[in-house]
Amino acid sequence: MKIAPTPARLAGIAALLLASTASATIPPPPSAVDLAQRGEDPAWAITEGLTTEIGPRMAGTEAEAAARRWAVTRLQAMGFANVREEQYDMPVWVRGAEEAWLTGPFQPQKLAIAALGNSGSTGAKGLTGQIAFFDSFDALAAAPDQSVKGKIVFIDNHMERAQDGSGYGYYGRGRFAGPNVAAKKGAIAIVIRSIGTDAHRNPHTGVTNFEAGVAPIPAGAISNPDADQLVRQWKRTLQIRTNESAMGYDPEPLTMKLVLTPQSLGTKHSGNVIAEVPGSDLAASPVIVACHLDSWDLGTGAIDDAAGCGIVTAAAKHVMSAGQPRRTIRILWAGAEEVGVFGGKAYFDAHGKEKHAVALESDFGADRVWRVDFKLPDSAKPLADRIATALAPFGITRGKNPAGGGADVGALIAAGVPAIDLQQDGTRYFDIHHTPDDTLDKIDPAQLRQNVVAWTATLAILANSSDSELP
Ligand code: ZN
Ligand code: ZN
Repeated sequence: MKIAPTPARLAGIAALLLASTASATIPPPPSAVDLAQRGEDPAWAITEGLTTEIGPRMAGTEAEAAARRWAVTRLQAMGFANVREEQYDMPVWVRGAEEAWLTGPFQPQKLAIAALGNSGSTGAKGLTGQIAFFDSFDALAAAPDQSVKGKIVFIDNHMERAQDGSGYGYYGRGRFAGPNVAAKKGAIAIVIRSIGTDAHRNPHTGVTNFEAGVAPIPAGAISNPDADQLVRQWKRTLQIRTNESAMGYDPEPLTMKLVLTPQSLGTKHSGNVIAEVPGSDLAASPVIVACHLDSWDLGTGAIDDAAGCGIVTAAAKHVMSAGQPRRTIRILWAGAEEVGVFGGKAYFDAHGKEKHAVALESDFGADRVWRVDFKLPDSAKPLADRIATALAPFGITRGKNPAGGGADVGALIAAGVPAIDLQQDGTRYFDIHHTPDDTLDKIDPAQLRQNVVAWTATLAILANSSDSELP
């Protein structure tokens, strides 16, 4: 394990002492940004270590508990203070068998499918049904119950690629809300086109939610090429239908067989891991930086969100190494984000009444930061200007939209805590997001370092800001 910044910090202190006594040629101590730019950053070490030693870590499972133990050990070894685990309970869902076939009217063909989090089970024998085809979530929502009842709903929903990932909210509705809508209309199951921008045979998993009182139906996502295949078969059945109906035949529908056997394991322990850089002014409110420790089970959770934990923690470490900041920096590795933000809720329940100066989260991969967005009080305008100026040399522009924060600090921000977003380039994020391809090799070390530099510069300014700017 690499604990490089300690010597650098000592060198900085030594330089200061020497400068005060003699030579003017001794360089000043390194700034936090200098340290990050030198490559003395633990972001890679955390990302590599977590994905290699723990790997997939579904919230509430033994793997996530092991990840928490790993996190506590690592954060203590890095020299952070008040490293602790804060436990909570949450409902746990785990994947089972998952297979799907297009069974007719053409030659049966297997599809690449992954169950969505909170999906119901088909039972081991599976189920077969006719496809009820919808080209969007809105089309399903508008459909009469009769067109869906007893069928397997399919939502064809092409997510568009965008640097800011803005398509996720719109197209994601097919996953977030589609299964609940289909269940309420009487569907026996639902399959969606993956919420992803790639053309690989990797299905994209992710959570879905059923309202209280709605029994979960089996719900899965098929890969984009498999969805294309389904669409081609659907179009052919329409043509056959038109031709055969004209000839007086009974048309054959498109059918699918589905085997999904996930399980709900009931309530289990999960926990947040928290560490701090203590500030010199104990009366000043802390800066909170967040990421999430849990991941989906298909890959090793490198871009989502080991890298985020690496980035925020490396930045806090650099600020600490460059000298004690005025405000405390609190690092939150939320234990359960993917399956329902239970970690963020638990943090808010435990700490929501405490004052927080500002909240930031890194949970959008490891590609470079390209824009900074603010949601700060008017008193912080000079502070925002200083941050924007500090980030400009790294190719980061100032956005016009208010910052939204991240899921794990969402409750804090909803309660009025100011936020800053260091927006990452999401152009390729949804090629990999929630697939078996979310692995370490997808992380570009140079872009990861750019993230750390941007975070270090921002965090150094925030952690030393005055109460008049940021109460
Ligand atoms: Zn995430
Ligand atoms: Zn995720």
